[in-house]
Amino acid sequence: MKLASRISTIKPSPTLAITAKANALKAEGRDVISFGAGEPDFDTPDHIKMAAVKAIEEGFTKYTPVDGIVELKDAIISKLGRDNQLTYDRSQIVVSCGAKHTLYNLTQVLFEEGDEVIIPSPYWVSYLDMVLLSGARPVILNTGEAQGFKILPEQLKAAITRNTKAIIMNSPSNPTGAVYTARELAALAEVVSGKEMLVISDDIYEKIIYDDRQFTNIASLSKELRDRTVVVNGVSKTYSMTGWRIGYAAGPEEIIKAMTKLQSQNTSNPTSISQWAAVEALNGNQESVPVMVEEFRRRRDVIVEKLNAIPGITCALPDGAFYVFPDVSSLFGRSYQGQALSNSSDFTAYLLEAANVAVIPGVDFGHDNHIRLSYATSLKNIEEGLKRINSAVKGLS
Ligand SMILES: *Cc1c(COP(=O)(O)O)cnc(C)c1O
Repeated sequence: MKLASRISTIKPSPTLAITAKANALKAEGRDVISFGAGEPDFDTPDHIKMAAVKAIEEGFTKYTPVDGIVELKDAIISKLGRDNQLTYDRSQIVVSCGAKHTLYNLTQVLFEEGDEVIIPSPYWVSYLDMVLLSGARPVILNTGEAQGFKILPEQLKAAITRNTKAIIMNSPSNPTGAVYTARELAALAEVVSGKEMLVISDDIYEKIIYDDRQFTNIASLSKELRDRTVVVNGVSKTYSMTGWRIGYAAGPEEIIKAMTKLQSQNTSNPTSISQWAAVEALNGNQESVPVMVEEFRRRRDVIVEKLNAIPGITCALPDGAFYVFPDVSSLFGRSYQGQALSNSSDFTAYLLEAANVAVIPGVDFGHDNHIRLSYATSLKNIEEGLKRINSAVKGLS
């Protein structure tokens, strides 16, 4: 059968694919340690689970308004006021089935052929495919480790054309953990100011931030920026709620309305029970968050130290999220059983084959000299996994 051509323009999510492959090998009895996970390894806090149980018991098991229950919209509005100094009305909020769904709806209502969308690289894998699916052209802005994996104002300025529709920002970043300071965002805001373009701010890792770094949303810097920024966030990463599928957008009413209309023709409302759990996550006790972040920080310090101790690998200390993005390019050209490793995919395949360790090749995030490891796994796995990577690297000739 001939499928629609739009589906051939995109690839499956590589992070989900590698996680699935690692799980399949584990099921076959292979002792695989996976650094592929894109989700916290903690359980959802009990008080949040109990809110869902209560919702079931009280019969909140029916369709809700497409864009979310008012209790959740109000909880989101309070959160954005409290944490981000941003004020919104209910008409400026739409709740979707995870932030990925939010971003998908957003790209579908905003972009089309002829549009250009600026994506700083390394980028989260899905931005590229979502933009391609919309028909727009992704404009990749490369950043290196030397600039902290953050775009510079002059770079942004040079990339903006008449066709630029938006830029997709992600701080803290997946995969690099880079966090933009308020001053860096202000310099970018100045470039965007006066231009006919939108800023999409994916704040999903907002709370996972280390060493007294402060999170800033570009929308909070000026009224003008606020009016053309769409804030995307959700409960998945902050509250270990990846499976519950609740994400949201806050922004100009016209865009939110369009997203709601699209959603009314695809998923309808996000799960009613999950919405009540999300109300509790946002309004309830926040104590689980710093506990999780402190555990991530401990793991980050260990994994960065151990990676840097491996000859041929260098790894910067990330300021946020739960990933490291080490440079492994000085190992390219070395070989294993006569096979030379020449890129991040070769190196990743080698680690899985020879060391039973699953990582994600940097090429999927736009940077082929790197690999991504998630440290959303136990310290014990980190120690054992890094020991294996070290031996595997030593085994190259
Ligand atoms: C995990 C992730 C998301 C999506 O999270 P949901 O579970 O769909 O809410 C969005 N952006 C980035 C950068 C992510 O890593």
